[in-house]
Amino acid sequence: MTTIDYREFYIDGGWQTPVGSDVIDVHSPTTESSIGSVPSASTADIDRAVAAARSAFDAPDGWATLHPRQRAEILERFATELEARAAETSRRVTIQNGMPIWLAEQFEGGFPAVLLRYFSQMMVESPEVDERPGMLGGTARVTRQPIGVVAAIVPWNVPQAITFLKLAPALAAGCTVVLKPAEETVLDAFLMAEAAVAAGLPSGVLNVIPGGREIGAYLVGHPDVDKVSFTGSTAAGRSIAETCGRLLRPVTLELGGKSAAILLDDVDLDASMESLFGATFLNNGQICWLNTRVLAPRSRYGEVVDALTGLAESLKVGDPLDPETKVGPLVSARQRERVEGYIAKGKSEGARLTTGGGRPTGLDSGYFVQPTVFADLDNTATIAREEIFGPVLSVIPFGDEAEALAIANDSEYGLGGSVWSSDLERAAAVAGRVKSGTVGVNHYSNDPVAPFGGIKNSGMGRELGPEGLHAFQHLHTVYLPPAG
Ligand code: NAD
Repeated sequence: MTTIDYREFYIDGGWQTPVGSDVIDVHSPTTESSIGSVPSASTADIDRAVAAARSAFDAPDGWATLHPRQRAEILERFATELEARAAETSRRVTIQNGMPIWLAEQFEGGFPAVLLRYFSQMMVESPEVDERPGMLGGTARVTRQPIGVVAAIVPWNVPQAITFLKLAPALAAGCTVVLKPAEETVLDAFLMAEAAVAAGLPSGVLNVIPGGREIGAYLVGHPDVDKVSFTGSTAAGRSIAETCGRLLRPVTLELGGKSAAILLDDVDLDASMESLFGATFLNNGQICWLNTRVLAPRSRYGEVVDALTGLAESLKVGDPLDPETKVGPLVSARQRERVEGYIAKGKSEGARLTTGGGRPTGLDSGYFVQPTVFADLDNTATIAREEIFGPVLSVIPFGDEAEALAIANDSEYGLGGSVWSSDLERAAAVAGRVKSGTVGVNHYSNDPVAPFGGIKNSGMGRELGPEGLHAFQHLHTVYLPPAG
């Protein structure tokens, strides 16, 4: 197989030779062989990228000064170039992180252009000024201004969609961006940079600099960065928040989760199975908002355990490039070790394994783990409390709705969740009492029009919706004096 190799970084509108000679080798989690390489950034490369973003933002006729319509025209060209590369983007994500190709086509190939157009249009339609009659006789003129140079740091699990949760509102708002992709998924980020070049994005507006966590930490603390937008683990988020706290630097953090699906006693299980798959095992269990705790009424506990066991056993595990595959490999050997460690912990703490728990037979290579279901545990079990980030569900029994809510809310996380019932209003009422940023009824998916994000250890701030745009703006008030 030919490998995909890059030798330069996308900085200041073009391809630039790295200062250092370090290289990131990318491996397929399916074949375990090398599939490409990109240069790994040094701090000097970060300095160049931030300087480019800084001048593009500060220039008197720079990106921030364009009318939103002018930015929208350029971002429309970017969206078109991304669409022209959508199939290859999806393929690259799938071969790097194991995301099933049909899902990559939706999330990774399709979503970036949708988000660019959504936020560009929102900026075009936003009122330029908000004039408020003052209480003291004058007028307060309030505007939203782009916040400046943004450091965007993203993980490997849904790399392009998460990138554009940040890039689309930031660029539409008039900010400039230095993007640091995760080392596991860089080939899609470089293809995105090719689209930016083809679209003629002005110099310095977007810069793509891959590297490890030290490089990420350096970028977060860089004196010329005005805002940090981070998605990743809670541990990294905490460290980034500490830096931003010290610098009084605005930060948005989208972190881990341990969300609960509450199945009420009138749930129609047969009708729910496909949506339950989407809420639990999607992307091989590697999405932050997945509902990996399934709470089932005691009266129907056995039935729910059997249904989820059957679901797990029905999922085709294998090559993620095969459109029939529902569960691909985990991203890395390290991630598989972590997931297997949790499976061992579940067993040793006395939970009952109803299916899975091992590596699938017949797959000679790849970091595969069988879809796994644990029953007969309560919410104190380690596997019910910690984020596993793999295809492992815990089915926990409850008595009544109050107990279901108490269990769902007994978590250090608060990102997603869902409530399942034949009565939508009943489910929505229960959903309203789940302590997390977002909750679905009879399904879970984030809709771009509404704010997405978490509370507690799941982070702070929101992406998507108008709130996702406001995260890249600051408010500016001019007090006009009373007339006469
Ligand atoms: P990670 O935190 O190790 O890495 C994420 C990114 O941050 C990578 O680019 C990494 O290089 C960088 N990074 C790591 N430490 C850093 C530091 N101290 N300073 C600056 N940058 C740093 O996370 P991961 O294991 O790659 O990703 C999985 C995690 O991401 C899971 O916990 C998952 O729940 C979370 N996640 C959250 C969301 C959300 O929207 N809430 C979405 C996807 C993933």
